[in-house]
Amino acid sequence: MRRSNVFAGSSLDRAAHLRRDAEWIAARLSDPGSRVVPFWRGRCLVRWEGERAVAVQLALSEIGGLEEGLASPEAAVLLGLAEDRAHFALDLSAFEEDEARRRLGRLGTSGELVDLKSVGSVLAGEEAALLAYVRGLLHWHARHGFCGVCGAPTVSRDSGHVRRCTGCGADHFPRTDAAVIMLVTDGDRCLLGRQSAWPEGVYSTLAGFLEPGESLEEAVAREVWEEAGIQIADAAYHSSQPWPFPASIMLGFTARAVTTAIRLHDGELADARWFGRAELADRATRPIKLPSRHSIAYRLIKDWLAGEI
Ligand SMILES: [Zn+2]
Repeated sequence: MRRSNVFAGSSLDRAAHLRRDAEWIAARLSDPGSRVVPFWRGRCLVRWEGERAVAVQLALSEIGGLEEGLASPEAAVLLGLAEDRAHFALDLSAFEEDEARRRLGRLGTSGELVDLKSVGSVLAGEEAALLAYVRGLLHWHARHGFCGVCGAPTVSRDSGHVRRCTGCGADHFPRTDAAVIMLVTDGDRCLLGRQSAWPEGVYSTLAGFLEPGESLEEAVAREVWEEAGIQIADAAYHSSQPWPFPASIMLGFTARAVTTAIRLHDGELADARWFGRAELADRATRPIKLPSRHSIAYRLIKDWLAGEI
């Protein structure tokens, strides 16, 4: 089996069948051994062991019980079960930072609140996946406090996996926006581009969001045409990566170029070029910087350089 991309590969049992079991949830929320995963305004809590980051997970007993850690019981979001322990996301975003840290107690104050994107490659795979889940779910809660149908406030239901409108009663479910990301090749060279906002020298695979009424393969072809003026064929699925920055799933593809003249049609890229395999293979002499090591873009490029795709 292929290895997972970073932010995928959690072995957590999401226990979806228990989300609506109020009695079971209440028991878990009063169990001092239940675990909470803190989150504050887009940042997660880690401690450092050398160069490795470790996700801080706290037992309810360590934060002095639920009342100490939560603004309201509604703020508890069930993530699932690991090692027979219920795990909850703990969103402290309603508090100022000092107050959030006080509520996290002694262990919390020794950790660092960081952006997950900055630590993805230095977390254990399981922990990166867990924090991606937390980040994605809590971002959705933060942005869906009002109904998109009638505008009335929504409330959390099913242990944080549904928001129900208090006006029209519509149920809203967590959103994940599909994006395609593709390595386009022409024999022994591949197409990479850069956006002007990226760090100097970084080139990466092309990518873009799926549009309504479009297949994944069609999105791959459209994006490559819009961004680089290249026509492609044989779009083939490679792997996927949860990308909760803020709410995407990256669907990785390879594709074969059938034209090679680059034209930056839509202005999204500042530059796009063909790079030879030999040119990219040696890190010391590589003319560009590759994207973050934990990104699926990096994985696509590295797998191609290794002859695996
Ligand atoms: Zn409504």
